[in-house]
Amino acid sequence: MDNDSLSRVLHHLGEDDNPFGAVSPPIYQTSIFCFKSFAEFREALVNEVDHSVYTRGNNPTVTLVEQKLAALDGAERAKLVSSGVAAISHAIMAFVKSGDHVVCVRDCYSWCGVLLEKYLPRFGVTHTFVDGTDAEEVIGAVRPETKVIYLESPTTLTFTLQDLPAIAAEAKKRGIKTIIDNTWATPVFCNPIQLGIDIVVYSGSKYFGGSSDIIAGVVAGGKADIDLIQRQEFLQLGTVPDPFMAWLMLRGLRTLHIRMKTHYENALSIASYLEKHPKVESVLYPMLPSYPQYERAKKLFRGGSGLFSFRLKTKQFSDVVRFTDTLTLFKRAVSWGGYESLVFPNAIKYYEGDDIPPERLSLIRVHIGLEQVDDIIEDLEHALRSVHG
Ligand SMILES: *Cc1c(COP(=O)(O)O)cnc(C)c1O
Repeated sequence: MDNDSLSRVLHHLGEDDNPFGAVSPPIYQTSIFCFKSFAEFREALVNEVDHSVYTRGNNPTVTLVEQKLAALDGAERAKLVSSGVAAISHAIMAFVKSGDHVVCVRDCYSWCGVLLEKYLPRFGVTHTFVDGTDAEEVIGAVRPETKVIYLESPTTLTFTLQDLPAIAAEAKKRGIKTIIDNTWATPVFCNPIQLGIDIVVYSGSKYFGGSSDIIAGVVAGGKADIDLIQRQEFLQLGTVPDPFMAWLMLRGLRTLHIRMKTHYENALSIASYLEKHPKVESVLYPMLPSYPQYERAKKLFRGGSGLFSFRLKTKQFSDVVRFTDTLTLFKRAVSWGGYESLVFPNAIKYYEGDDIPPERLSLIRVHIGLEQVDDIIEDLEHALRSVHG
């Protein structure tokens, strides 16, 4: 989507009739909606997915944001839900029943892995994890009972990419739903539906919010699929997006395209700096020309976001601790997608003294925020000086 179209969606779409000409749309902080007559009431109840009846189903503030999110992805419909993990769970659960099978990329978001390994087996749904970089491997894992292929490109720890058009085309032939987590690229840099993917999910807690102050999720796709998800999972499980959260997301979306451009420029500068640094072994940023899957990245993405990993040369736990603790501009935290730079050393998931595979021990994930590049580099340089080469 070019900048003009992005601006039309983020700044104008759905906002011609704001009450009192308000430039900022109102927050409809209400649980119920009233009807003028029996007939109007019944009409809304019969077709609840298209009407505001009760805020557990729809709410006008939420609907406005959904309209923009759908347009950003060229989707017929988008549904806002209370978290990214709810979006993932809804999208997968809508299309499986007992006896069915899911093919999923191994390095998917951790709670997606938990859904497949711990939760869905209780209902007789099985899965196969695949590396995902080779489309033939993914399709090779398909069984007669496979109903869903779940992708995340890139994965957000090791940043490996899948061949979306090839996988989508093969899945379509077999009547299998394809779902992708597009949180990393955002619709600014990638539109998976245009590449043939059926359903796109997001954590809105990341770039859509953009200020690390909301938890939200999005599912987007064809109207029939999203209506099904709304009726079957969303209304039943009650993963309601509250109107204030939707309004905060709307505010975040106003600047999405500008923020993504700066995240991309900053991340590319920092990735190039790290790549040349003598204490750094490798940098896993798909938009870096030296990245093994760069050619695929160029085909899939118009740009890259601020999240990537790199490996220190040192394989000592104490170095990883010292590197993490010496940083001052980078904050030590989970998640990403806000204005601020963050560090997440993979080794933190293990206990001291645990046997950590060396390639995981020295793996550091960073989110490059919107700060001045020179300040970010100064902080990294200082921290890198504190570790062994
Ligand atoms: C954070 C994240 C999620 C989960 O989103 P929540 O809003 O935290 O539930 C899913 N996928 C990716 C890639 C994420 O980074």
